[in-house]
Amino acid sequence: MSSARLQTWRRDPDDDAPRLECGVFGVYDTDNASTLTALGLHALQHRGQEACGIASYDGQRFHTEKHMGQVGDAFGGDVSARLPGRSAIGHTRYSTSGGSFLRNIQPLFADLETGGIALAHNGNLTNFKYLRDQLVGEGRIFQSTSDSEVILQLIARSRKGKIVDKFIDALSQIEGGYALVALTNKKLIGVRDPLGIRPLVLGDLDGRAVLASETCALDIIGARFVRDIEHGEMVVIEGDSIESLRPFPAEHARPCVFEYVYFARPDSIVNGKSVYEVRKRMGMRLAQESGVPADVVVPVPDSGVPAALGFSQEAGVPFEMGIIRNHYVGRTFIQPTQGARELGVRLKLSPNRQVLAGKRVMLIDDSIVRGTNSVRVVRMVREAGAREVHLRSASPPIKFPDFYGIDMPDRDKLLAANKTLDEMKQMLEVDSLGFLSVEGLYWALGAGPRDPAEPQFTDHYFTGDYPTRLLDRELAEGRNEMVERQLSLLVSG
Ligand code: AMP
Repeated sequence: MSSARLQTWRRDPDDDAPRLECGVFGVYDTDNASTLTALGLHALQHRGQEACGIASYDGQRFHTEKHMGQVGDAFGGDVSARLPGRSAIGHTRYSTSGGSFLRNIQPLFADLETGGIALAHNGNLTNFKYLRDQLVGEGRIFQSTSDSEVILQLIARSRKGKIVDKFIDALSQIEGGYALVALTNKKLIGVRDPLGIRPLVLGDLDGRAVLASETCALDIIGARFVRDIEHGEMVVIEGDSIESLRPFPAEHARPCVFEYVYFARPDSIVNGKSVYEVRKRMGMRLAQESGVPADVVVPVPDSGVPAALGFSQEAGVPFEMGIIRNHYVGRTFIQPTQGARELGVRLKLSPNRQVLAGKRVMLIDDSIVRGTNSVRVVRMVREAGAREVHLRSASPPIKFPDFYGIDMPDRDKLLAANKTLDEMKQMLEVDSLGFLSVEGLYWALGAGPRDPAEPQFTDHYFTGDYPTRLLDRELAEGRNEMVERQLSLLVSG
């Protein structure tokens, strides 16, 4: 598919869904449920920094509060007084331009014939437009542009009697990557998509169930990690029982590899693997695959730190903090416009000249996406007096966009999709450039060699091998082709 066509699909001004990154959290039947939720969301802040929300249920009524901005600013003070009740769910979100509307902030809420339901969703549906068009065609009114509302509308439309059956009915129609947490007047429900693309874990707080995108959100409230919600599993928590349902046909798991590369917090355990350990191993393998003589190994902070440690230990070259990060600025990427993003790099990082001057510097980053960050960091390191600058990416070249809830630009903006290694080296002005191999990545994950027939991970970023069909994209392509055909018929006469 040409990138121009992909762009047509991605540039719907009122659609932010394909570019969402989020964290979800839920607690059931505890004291201070919404305060615990605010803490959980705070630990998941890295998954989304633009907006956050909490919904609680007090036995009579649902209460919701939604804010633009970060959790610490939004949910200070006595949260449990404002959002009373013994159960609560929460959501933290990030979207790029066009989608930062208050009405898109989650949890979403609906009053159904079975009672109220609040829903928080991490991920992205790949047949969202298809379903939304159908629902709109039936006369349904949407309050938001988020794909999560499609799920809520499908639950509302279902003719099944019980809420869990309605939910399953809705799940049978959606495609893509998702982790869902929902709160009804009796139940806390958690669901992970059939391939387990997006993560979700179950925790235990003094005998009470907790659901969270990552284990770091359990740690902050002192909850014990119980297990991952499995791919294609739905857990229904009610009273003292936790029921596990399998609403989908059995498939093998394919969790997202980018959680390990960049997205998850290093202290989280994702699908039974320590994110920190995996990142370190990526660095070790990188040193084996593309080491060159250097005086210092310097991470691009913070995301490059574990891989740089692994590289340094493997190569026997000292690890040094040659770049210092100002922690009072958000992640480089978490800026809606390109202009702000570029400024962000300078606001965020500064060179530690004592470490860099006169040295052969091995710079390690977790990934290179557009290359904007790398160009500026390399220049900064040179201006600080480095004799040589070598750049290594602890993940393979990113060549394909994402449709499952990781923010990735269109293909025409992905550096490695459009330039050869040599062209990238020249553009980034480095003495040498290297990427981890796909084999190396699988080695770091400890998953055995990649099985091309049934890959163990969702890894399309590097391989182009998408784990599901992409219905909205296929339909958009079809529509574009039809328009092009009609135009060419008009032109030809
Ligand atoms: P770039 O300037 O586009 O090459 O940015 C690359 C940097 O952005 C990497 O060093 C990562 O730390 C970070 N990054 C990679 N993927 C994402 C993402 N989906 N969202 C936010 N930041 C990202």
